[in-house]
Amino acid sequence: MKKLKTLVGPILAAAIIFLLFVQIRRPRFFNSGCREVMGTFAQITIAAKNKQQAADFFAQGFGQFEKVQRLMNDRDPNSELSRLGADAVGKPVSVSPELFDVLQASVHYSQMTDGAFDITVGPLTQLWRKTQQTGQLPCDERLAEAKEKIGYQKIQLDPLAKTIQLEQDGMKLDLGGIAKGYAVDMAIQTLRQNGVSSGMVDLGGNIRCFGAGPGRGGAWLIGVQDPRNDEKIILTLRLNDMAAATSGDYRRVAVVNGKPYSHIINPKTAQSVSELSGVTVIAASAMQADALSTAVSVLGKEKGLELLKSLPDVHAVLIAADENAAPVFTENAKNFILRQN
Ligand code: AMP
Ligand code: MG
Repeated sequence: MKKLKTLVGPILAAAIIFLLFVQIRRPRFFNSGCREVMGTFAQITIAAKNKQQAADFFAQGFGQFEKVQRLMNDRDPNSELSRLGADAVGKPVSVSPELFDVLQASVHYSQMTDGAFDITVGPLTQLWRKTQQTGQLPCDERLAEAKEKIGYQKIQLDPLAKTIQLEQDGMKLDLGGIAKGYAVDMAIQTLRQNGVSSGMVDLGGNIRCFGAGPGRGGAWLIGVQDPRNDEKIILTLRLNDMAAATSGDYRRVAVVNGKPYSHIINPKTAQSVSELSGVTVIAASAMQADALSTAVSVLGKEKGLELLKSLPDVHAVLIAADENAAPVFTENAKNFILRQN
């Protein structure tokens, strides 16, 4: 008994030292707060030693967003993408390695999705953007005219020379369905290269996490909003070293005669998509999740699930526009769901 008593002190001291050690070792997380960038809101959460170090890292991450914006924003006439526009018709034009990578990936996703994802939708997205401003639907003639200029097969890329050539006059590229995911991947690459051990980057619903998070067991928890009610979180995902992107008609939607019109366009019909109101794709990279969530929104439930079946490392949750329909999950998506509300 006496022996036990004499041991209490050292055991207690060891426990305190251990707890202190754990406390010191536990990373502190800092959040940038929401900032407006690339036409949406972004935030970065990272583990850092102190506020100053975190601020430096935030600057690096947001710097990447701004760089991607300067290269790929189709709404900015001075972006590299806009400037190459007419120049690339009929003759090859050199582009930056970053833009080339995204163009090449875009063509890859077009081939994978049988043209559901297609960055040549520019002439159509421009027409539909006008609907947002005027509240008037585009007329059939204008849609047919724009549709003539669509087709990823009309993009010629030369990987060695890093050039692009467009085969038809009037073609217009729109990277809105993939550039944000790419920007998230770029921000994470920079943060990691600069020694950040863990973090989460969210750019307008394109989210990627790396390292151990602040949640129990080092988890990163992500809420997925109900596309039909933006005050409600319908799913909580646990995402570690994975990315998730949500495409849906709850943002940037036009309403004509009470009917919502998505900003995602089916290149084959020239119409705004309507079957699914929310698609969340979970994948290894944010760019992949971004492109595929847009593609599945175009493909709809049946064809979308068929595509996802052929991609075992990609998971998804599909929410139909029909309010009575329950969310549909791909086979392994449930492994990432912590809670379904
Ligand atoms: P997201 O929010 O990632 O689904 O991207 C939607 C944006 O992608 C739209 O605002 C357009 O700029 C662009 N977009 C629309 N339809 C398509 C499509 N079928 N393929 C590729 N990009 C598209
Ligand atoms: Mg997308």
